[in-house]
Amino acid sequence: MRMSSVLTINLHRYQRNLEILGSLLSPGSRICAVVKANAYGHGLVPIAQTAVNADVAALGIVDDDEIRDLRDAGITLPILRLRPATIEEIRETAQYDVEELIGDPVALDQCSRLAQDLNRTIPVHLKVDVGIGRMGADPSEIKSLLARALNSTGIRVRGVMAHFPCADHPDSDITVRQIDAFDTTLKSLSDLPKDAVVHIGNSAALLRFPQAHYSMVRLGIASYGLRPSEAVPLPEGVLPVMRWTTRIVLIRKMKKGTTIGYGMTHRLERDSLIATLPVGYADGYFRSLSNRAHVAIRGQRCPLLGRVSMDLICVDVTDIPGVAVGEEVELLGDTISADELASLIGTINYEIVTLVGNVRKIDRMFVS
Ligand SMILES: *Cc1c(COP(=O)(O)O)cnc(C)c1O
Repeated sequence: MRMSSVLTINLHRYQRNLEILGSLLSPGSRICAVVKANAYGHGLVPIAQTAVNADVAALGIVDDDEIRDLRDAGITLPILRLRPATIEEIRETAQYDVEELIGDPVALDQCSRLAQDLNRTIPVHLKVDVGIGRMGADPSEIKSLLARALNSTGIRVRGVMAHFPCADHPDSDITVRQIDAFDTTLKSLSDLPKDAVVHIGNSAALLRFPQAHYSMVRLGIASYGLRPSEAVPLPEGVLPVMRWTTRIVLIRKMKKGTTIGYGMTHRLERDSLIATLPVGYADGYFRSLSNRAHVAIRGQRCPLLGRVSMDLICVDVTDIPGVAVGEEVELLGDTISADELASLIGTINYEIVTLVGNVRKIDRMFVS
């Protein structure tokens, strides 16, 4: 087991984030806690259990093994699969009562046949495409899809849903038009069961479009204390759940003019104190952060010098008085945010936490 760095997941913060964000829901709306991709790298089961304790309505996942892990952990809440599954996947997990997304009649018929084969009922949410263009029925086809679903043996219509492509975009016009299209679609569905769950919103929609909360909001990134985009700030008190730290293994005094690391890409401009840290790209510390990122010691920022190696990086600690081997270093957390690392390498905070969290799985610790 590699113990060169530690990922700490603050479940207390996750719970607090759910409470704060939940208080913003429109009346009658509830949260589907999105825990796909190993809870965005935060650890599936402990996060899901915290969400259950916070009284969310459902859990959102994508993969079969995640469904199994949740049920094996004794979680009985509705589980919604957030993408259309293959019929093999649906068969694999049919015993776990997963709510599946269905966006076309072929998939619907396959699902109905499978349900009959297995002598079970498969709950489904019908997916409307109001602009994301990845999957789902055209609004003009949804009425006939609903009629077909209501007449299909072994199918229970649990809900109708859509997904916003740009609810986090500064220009809200497109999203407002898509909400209109979704409303129009809903009005055409007079046969929709009264208890059907209607949902379209993600984190950005929770924060920006209260008219789009309907009966449920699928809440991912904001619950982990990260903003959906620069255009969508988080409410006061919503804080990052993931913290990634390491410890200094070596400190050396080095002369002005010395170069650091592979490719000799950084030359010291002054006599310096350089600390070596036992993390690198093998741990999920992106090589593209070479010569760009900072780490934090006692909340004070220290620049990363030279290239990121497979399992080492070097940082300048000249300005940290009394710094010592063994001292804790924050790679990601309250001082060095996922937003900061993401912007340095041209990606989004979602990618930082899912990649870091999923590479570092082994030594994760939980604080509650
Ligand atoms: C991942 C996902 C979400 C959550 O989105 P966030 O921006 O993280 O809140 C919601 N809906 C669907 C269909 C998703 O796949």
